[in-house]
Amino acid sequence: MAVIIDGKEVAKKTREEVREEVETLKKKGITPKLTVIMVGNNPASKVYVKQKSKACNEVGVEYEEYFLDAKITQKKLLELIEKLNNDASVNGILLQSPLPPHLDINEAFRAIDYRKDVDGFHPMNVGKLVLGQDTFISCTPYGIMRLFEAYKIDLCGKNVVIIGRSNIVGKPLVQCCLNHNATVTVCHSKTKDVREVAKNADVVVAAIGKPNFVKADMVKENAIVIDVGINRLDTGKLVGDVDFETVSQKASYITPVPGGVGPMTVAMLMNNVVKAAKQQNQ
Ligand code: NAP
Repeated sequence: MAVIIDGKEVAKKTREEVREEVETLKKKGITPKLTVIMVGNNPASKVYVKQKSKACNEVGVEYEEYFLDAKITQKKLLELIEKLNNDASVNGILLQSPLPPHLDINEAFRAIDYRKDVDGFHPMNVGKLVLGQDTFISCTPYGIMRLFEAYKIDLCGKNVVIIGRSNIVGKPLVQCCLNHNATVTVCHSKTKDVREVAKNADVVVAAIGKPNFVKADMVKENAIVIDVGINRLDTGKLVGDVDFETVSQKASYITPVPGGVGPMTVAMLMNNVVKAAKQQNQ
């Protein structure tokens, strides 16, 4: 039976460390501030935004939100981003995705000052990650790296297979793992035989959004398995992309869903906001 990686506990510890840093900054007259922009009424986005506001409150980061009408124009959205870019009291700007289809999300991400891009989505920050330079790393892959660190899992020389190549999880995680000297393979929907690729990996990361996709026959004995997926079944149950029951019998480490990668994402966002505040006040 695998060691279950306790993301809740690592996230709690991370938030605690961030809270201490915020206290130190406040003594110097600096209060880190995050501004979240949400467009429209997406129910899932509302839940995520609420989690972010709660986390800010917990660690002492000032929080501000703009709920914009779903019909807002691209021009108005860019004007707001520009205003926040120029507001010295705002350290981090987060544009909650998805946006309504008439808006150009890539242009909006590019409009955010990369020094305030605490989500790590700006091409400048993505480029810096590729170059192995210090930058804002997208919060979910960053959270996964923090879990490896917390459990003293050294990626150097390991074969890592990442299933999923999204801009927010799979692709930045490739760079994070490469930067830690892993040998990385990426699978996606056009991969001919995911099982054949995954079953030789020392570390398997599933980030696809398909309930219980990774079965025991897809992982080798003692593999480390990271489950990024969050899938709600018709029964209301929340499950990951990994068939936890069977895979946990074979793996050496595994993240559960919920309570694995999920809690790390918001904790690393708090980490990034404090980093931004420190850099902007140097
Ligand atoms: P996404 O943008 O939908 O990307 C899914 C990726 O999976 C794509 O690259 C797709 O390949 C690949 N894929 C789909 N079906 C596949 C298959 N049968 N075999 C191999 N690859 C396949 O998803 P995402 O935003 O990365 O999210 C993935 C999952 O993680 C979702 O369940 C999401 O809710 C969850 N998530 C969790 C957190 C967290 O904080 N824990 C954060 C973000 C996302 P193509 O590129 O070829 O289409």
